[in-house]
Amino acid sequence: MGLEDIKRRISAAEQAAGRAPGSVTLIAVSKVQPAARVEAVLTAGHTVFGENYVQEAQDKWPAWRRHFPGVSVHMIGPLQSNKAKPAVQLFDTIHTLDRMTLARKLAQQVDEQGRTPQLFVQVNTGDEPQKAGILADELPGFLASCHELALAPQGLMCIPPEGLDPVPHFRLLRQLANDNGLQNLSMGMSADFEAAIAEGATHVRVGSAIFGARDYAGTE
Ligand SMILES: *Cc1c(COP(=O)(O)O)cnc(C)c1O
Repeated sequence: MGLEDIKRRISAAEQAAGRAPGSVTLIAVSKVQPAARVEAVLTAGHTVFGENYVQEAQDKWPAWRRHFPGVSVHMIGPLQSNKAKPAVQLFDTIHTLDRMTLARKLAQQVDEQGRTPQLFVQVNTGDEPQKAGILADELPGFLASCHELALAPQGLMCIPPEGLDPVPHFRLLRQLANDNGLQNLSMGMSADFEAAIAEGATHVRVGSAIFGARDYAGTE
């Protein structure tokens, strides 16, 4: 388990960037990991986890939440509009608000359930045709439409293009957050969370560096 090592590296990166200790939230990305690995991290006292799939999260987290009170679960994977209901039931934070159809469904569920997960808007910083996310140019209009639905996103999230330097993407996300008055930045994964912290990340999403490699073939 690499939890302690990652926490130390986050503290060092906060300090190096002149940021307040504890200003970065570590989301331990537990998707597809064997239960024993996740339970070790829960037992070590970590309370913030990330999942990519609604069904998998529904299967795993209700029981763990009962045993480990105070845990929060963040949705970081693509969210189908028809999963808005369980998503609003399950997740404390959703990082992947990326289109109006989903915004409408989430707004409807927030209204019906009286439960409001914290929201991040996913931005397609690399303008990649195959990738989810709002384009930078369209962000102000999208945020305005969210507000009309009484949704109040509090941050932005990005997944930089594979194989490219992520730093320009982190900088763009930070600039967009500043321009739009948003406080939170969900950026940085196992390979680049320190660079993301240097650029202002408030939430880093770290999976394999904590839990070890994911074995998709062996999914329970
Ligand atoms: C899986 C995943 C992560 C974690 O990736 P690692 O490289 O294992 O740290 C972070 N963010 C998103 C959106 C993911 O899907």
